[in-house]
Amino acid sequence: MKLRQILSAAIISLTMMSATAFSQTKVIAHRGFWKCDGSAQNSIASLRKAAEAKVYGSEFDVQLTSDGVAIVNHDGSINGLVICKTPFSQLKDISLSNGEKISTLEEYLIEGKKHKKLKLILEIKSHPTKEMETQVTKEVVDLVKKHKMKKQVEYISFSPYICQELHRITPKSKIASLASEYDPDMVKNELKVSGVDYQYGLLKKNPNWLSQCRKNKLSVNVWTVNNPKDIEEYIKMGVDFITTDEPLKALELSK
Ligand code: MG
Repeated sequence: MKLRQILSAAIISLTMMSATAFSQTKVIAHRGFWKCDGSAQNSIASLRKAAEAKVYGSEFDVQLTSDGVAIVNHDGSINGLVICKTPFSQLKDISLSNGEKISTLEEYLIEGKKHKKLKLILEIKSHPTKEMETQVTKEVVDLVKKHKMKKQVEYISFSPYICQELHRITPKSKIASLASEYDPDMVKNELKVSGVDYQYGLLKKNPNWLSQCRKNKLSVNVWTVNNPKDIEEYIKMGVDFITTDEPLKALELSK
């Protein structure tokens, strides 16, 4: 009888532990929450909508203009103008699909600061030269420091060099590598950052990477998971974060 009681207690606590593990997956809105009225990818509205949706974080992309202004945009060019070769004065009046002008990083941070519970998942895009990558990383970290937002901002980048630079100049910040060519051991040993942010199929192709991440104490984020079945699968897998264009659906499934 006693053994039976012990066994059922163990089963109950194991079930609770796994339920807790599943509920720990947090949702990040990819390029903000933009699939709703009045919003657009990487717009200030998408940041506000992500805060209203009460997701863990809102992701956005940052790159530098030719005269060193950090702006928020995904593609390397807008209306045929290559951002890193174009001064800000020629880009500032370009409208997003919701009518907003393109934002500077500073404008984005000022808005983000109003939503204290929302983490800003700041992707620094790869730039053509090491010099530009050094410059954009410094500019971004300086702006975050200026607005006293170190705890609210978490960094991601595809560029191994930018990850290393971030670790060098802001070692206590959360930094995750997006680079698919870096397995979890390489991320830990060579980049020395705190997490990985993998395209979700990569974890399926490399089933041992999740445990490798756990062993290395790396946080695990997957992108861009939009299909409800996939979202459920990664929640069950126990990843820490899901980056998605469907934040409401992911929130519902994560509960
Ligand atoms: Mg991005």
